Amino acid sequence: MSDLRELYQSVILDHNKHPRNFGALDGATHKADGHNPLCGDKINLQLIVEDGVVTDVAFEGEGCAISTASASVMTETLKGRTLRDVEALFGRFHDLVTGKGGGDLDELGKLAVFAGVSEFPIRVKCATLSWHTLRAALEGAGAPATTE
Ligand code: ZN
Repeated sequence: MSDLRELYQSVILDHNKHPRNFGALDGATHKADGHNPLCGDKINLQLIVEDGVVTDVAFEGEGCAISTASASVMTETLKGRTLRDVEALFGRFHDLVTGKGGGDLDELGKLAVFAGVSEFPIRVKCATLSWHTLRAALEGAGAPATTE
């Protein structure tokens, strides 16, 4: 288990240092801002959704290592997914980081690296900020997403 934990840790550190899909997106069809006041994490998420499929996604913002890595891994995971898949993934990711399991870790792919977050309740909002922001963007809500 400790090897796995170290692997998870190194993936999170790597994504924090070198966030994937970081920057603005040309031609975004959906966007939203998110804020986690508890930690000070801020994110702006932009997506291109075509025929119910996420074809591109990018984010900007600043926050702690967990929030940045979570947004980075999330953007990697979302590309090519249907909106139905995305909603299902959000539910499973939420279960994972809140210690309710999350089902088959293989299906969660790289998202599984955030399993350890469930041991740190205060970090759950850091890990889920990008997902809440994603939902706000897809729902087209005008108000920024907040974890509170
Ligand atoms: Zn945070």
